Amino acid sequence: MPFQFFGTAGAVPSPTRDNTALVFYSQDEAVLVDCSGSPYQKILKAGLDPMRVSSLIVTHRHVDHVYGIPSLAHNMGLAGRRTTLHVYALAETMEILRGFLDLFPLEEKMPYRFELHEVPGKEGHEVHRAKGFRIFSTPVKHGAPNIGLRVEFDSPGERGVVVYSSDTSPCPSLVALARGADILIHEATFPHSDAARAASDGHTTGYQAGEVARQAGVKRLFLCHFSADLHGRVDELRQEAMRAFSGPVEIPEELREYRV
Ligand SMILES: [Zn+2]
Ligand SMILES: [Zn+2]
Repeated sequence: MPFQFFGTAGAVPSPTRDNTALVFYSQDEAVLVDCSGSPYQKILKAGLDPMRVSSLIVTHRHVDHVYGIPSLAHNMGLAGRRTTLHVYALAETMEILRGFLDLFPLEEKMPYRFELHEVPGKEGHEVHRAKGFRIFSTPVKHGAPNIGLRVEFDSPGERGVVVYSSDTSPCPSLVALARGADILIHEATFPHSDAARAASDGHTTGYQAGEVARQAGVKRLFLCHFSADLHGRVDELRQEAMRAFSGPVEIPEELREYRV
């Protein structure tokens, strides 16, 4: 099952990297994970049909993961969407989503429903099941309640597991979620020389992302959510991760299709 990064930056984007968000898709549907930038345009740039987007999973309430939601909801409506868009989030994140719907008169204008589904903060919860894939969540360790995601693909000719950490310090629940995955997408906001700051901000260093990959026994590691001052030298984070993890470590390109 293919996926793409709509962005790979941390909270502050740069000319080369936008805020971290992802899309996972099959023949039948696409699922967005977090919502920043100009999401409708990103869907088009990814070569996907916006009407094929069935759902959006919002990992946590921080601005860089949610600010595109009013724009996405508005654009989908103006583009003539009629089918329900399912939105999944923790209760603490849901408050922000309801706030958006109150702040803008979105629901009046939308010819479709924006259906909110609360995700319980428990390990291994099945968030979404579609033809060809299932998505599970687990709580991770960050400044706001947050979830990591495990996407399991099982369709003819395409089997595999991709895990996304979202924003987190290294944590055992994520190691458990990532166990044996084909690809672990782990945040690496800071270099290891900033380990103290990473810990206090609820983030991970490049080296620590490598340790998580090794502990979870994954096949490949992708890094993301890079602090803006590192965008010119992200390969240093990759080199750090490779000191802890012997498998391939990649710095993903935005809007490029990846497969397990
Ligand atoms: Zn973030
Ligand atoms: Zn965050």
